[in-house]
Amino acid sequence: MKKIIILGSSGSVGMQILDVVSRMKDYVCVKGLAVGSNINVLKSQIKKFNPTAVSVNDPVAARILKEWCVSNDMQTNVYSGAAGLEKLATTRDVDMVFASIVGSVGVKSIIAAIKARKNVAIANKESLVMAGNYIMNLTAKKGVSVFPIDSEHSAIFQCCVGAKKSHIKKIILTASGGPFYRYNKDFSKISVEQALNHPTWKMGKKITIDSATLMNKGLEAIEASVLFGIPIDNIEIIIHPQSIVHSMVEYADGSVIAQLSNPDMCLPIQYALTYPERVPSNVKPLNFFEIGKLEFYKPDFDKFRCLGLAYYAAKKGYTVPAVMNAANEVSVAAFLNKEIKFTDIGKIVEKTIKFHKISKRMSLDTFLKADLWAKQYAKKLIEKGI
Ligand code: MG
Repeated sequence: MKKIIILGSSGSVGMQILDVVSRMKDYVCVKGLAVGSNINVLKSQIKKFNPTAVSVNDPVAARILKEWCVSNDMQTNVYSGAAGLEKLATTRDVDMVFASIVGSVGVKSIIAAIKARKNVAIANKESLVMAGNYIMNLTAKKGVSVFPIDSEHSAIFQCCVGAKKSHIKKIILTASGGPFYRYNKDFSKISVEQALNHPTWKMGKKITIDSATLMNKGLEAIEASVLFGIPIDNIEIIIHPQSIVHSMVEYADGSVIAQLSNPDMCLPIQYALTYPERVPSNVKPLNFFEIGKLEFYKPDFDKFRCLGLAYYAAKKGYTVPAVMNAANEVSVAAFLNKEIKFTDIGKIVEKTIKFHKISKRMSLDTFLKADLWAKQYAKKLIEKGI
């Protein structure tokens, strides 16, 4: 029986994790859940999974939930705030912590879990972009494993089982391409509505815009470089509109190993739970005759400047990826608010990176400071009209 904790259980990834867990009741037991403030969702999750403890970031919501637990005869302990989250993430007798909380709170809880020697399954992209090398060094020191939940990184992980790192020549990261990889009109006139209209995936607004600028793929390239210890120049991005090949690994002898499946987050989640075993899932089997063909195209680095910026940030290293991520976050929010143009996102990110003074200290505090500085600087740029 695997005992797990899910941080961010009311979010879309968190709910998908619980979906997988509810089909694997003989194999997995939920020991703890954490949410920001959505206690209505948490109440039904408590009833269904009966965790030992939960954490609610908002103290008022936590108090209401505590009263609810008492009046409903629930034995669940309720924690709150940042301290509560850390307490939950470091619970004794737990095998794996699923980290799907967004933002810097998420980073802190991942680090707390690793320090307490828990294996972690990471769905929080910015943590690996912000403080990836620091996190990976810490996992090595503590002897714990990291399991990727992103479909591309799970694919790479699956293609690397049993392989030596020195045998890997390059990683081929696939991208659906978003709504604009074939768009030939003026990018500066792209509207919020157009950018939110992703052809194949239904996702949150932030990641949908990141998919439209291809920044999402840039972030994923950095994530892959960190997770698998491969230099960024050995990571190639290719557009694959069918989203069937989730990524590939090319080996020294010229062999390429790919992972294919119908796109479904349940698979990476389940594999993180069962690794190295494989068990049946609900994913619809591939029908190659229905698919017919798989296409691959080169991404245009001139049209999608965020891609080049991500490679630049990865090469510079230290605090630069954190700064890029933070400036992007602020710019995407401003674009969604109709304060800036689609093409301004890349401009603001570039200006913020160029103005940043790199700090070479490897501490969580350094990364958090860089994140905060970049957010403030990017906001100033937007206020000034870039
Ligand atoms: Mg992805």
